[in-house]
Amino acid sequence: MSKKVVLITGASRGIGAATAKLFAQHGYDVCLNYKSNRQAAESLQREILSLGVKCVCVAADVADEAQVVSLFEAMDCSLGPISVLVNNAAILQPQARLKDMSAERVNQMFCTNVTSAFICAREAVKRMSTQMGGQGGVIVNVSSVAARTGSPNEYIDYAASKGALDTLTKGLAMEVAAEGIRVNSVRPGLIYTDMHRDGGEPNRVDRLASKLPMQRGGQASEVAEAIYWLASDKSSFATGNFIDLAGGL
Ligand code: NAD
Repeated sequence: MSKKVVLITGASRGIGAATAKLFAQHGYDVCLNYKSNRQAAESLQREILSLGVKCVCVAADVADEAQVVSLFEAMDCSLGPISVLVNNAAILQPQARLKDMSAERVNQMFCTNVTSAFICAREAVKRMSTQMGGQGGVIVNVSSVAARTGSPNEYIDYAASKGALDTLTKGLAMEVAAEGIRVNSVRPGLIYTDMHRDGGEPNRVDRLASKLPMQRGGQASEVAEAIYWLASDKSSFATGNFIDLAGGL
């Protein structure tokens, strides 16, 4: 079996880190992208290397096109051609209502959560496309159930960014299907990660978990399993699809 390479954006913590570990456990070489938390990325890199696969960490702000191009070039040099891209990096800003949302805030949200996925997908498709000499591949976008709930009164900008990401998943899946590339998405609900601290409410999952049909929040590892399934040959006929991981929401 030829060696497989996965690139995970925003991989130094949370769902990205859990996903990186899972792919490494399945024998993938792993490119960990991080924006600024070098210490966490290097600590995860050591953990992954101990599993006997290759692992590099590359600093890049995925909202910056030039940095994304450099990120892919660094991965090409160190690990070889990409097999799987996980567009995981995203931000959640403190809760706000529309009247308090500046254009700057919304632009930053869309640049980080949507434009980054377009640019990373473009770089991945160039390398994966069977029509351009590649071996095919898989892109998994990490969206959110917020894309369908809309998150009124708190995070409508975040929800709208994930809605845009879902539309990218659908359109791109059809655009590149004939090039041997599948594009799918996971839509987590309430997952225990530090993102909620950035979003202004560290205990959000605990506050809302009891209202879910399953009466609990999810773990990053539970999202990672679905990402891995979508990237694997077990889902070989799935493209343009969404898996909601939200405890029944
Ligand atoms: P997280 O905040 O731990 O992870 C996001 C990662 O993206 C962080 O490591 C962050 O540094 C990185 N990042 C942010 N901006 C970046 C940039 N410009 N360049 C590179 N990296 C950048 O939170 P998480 O919960 O692990 O989130 C992972 C994904 O899951 C995100 O797409 C998020 O929207 C989605 N999600 C999370 C939840 C949840 O409840 N935690 C729910 C739905 C969807």
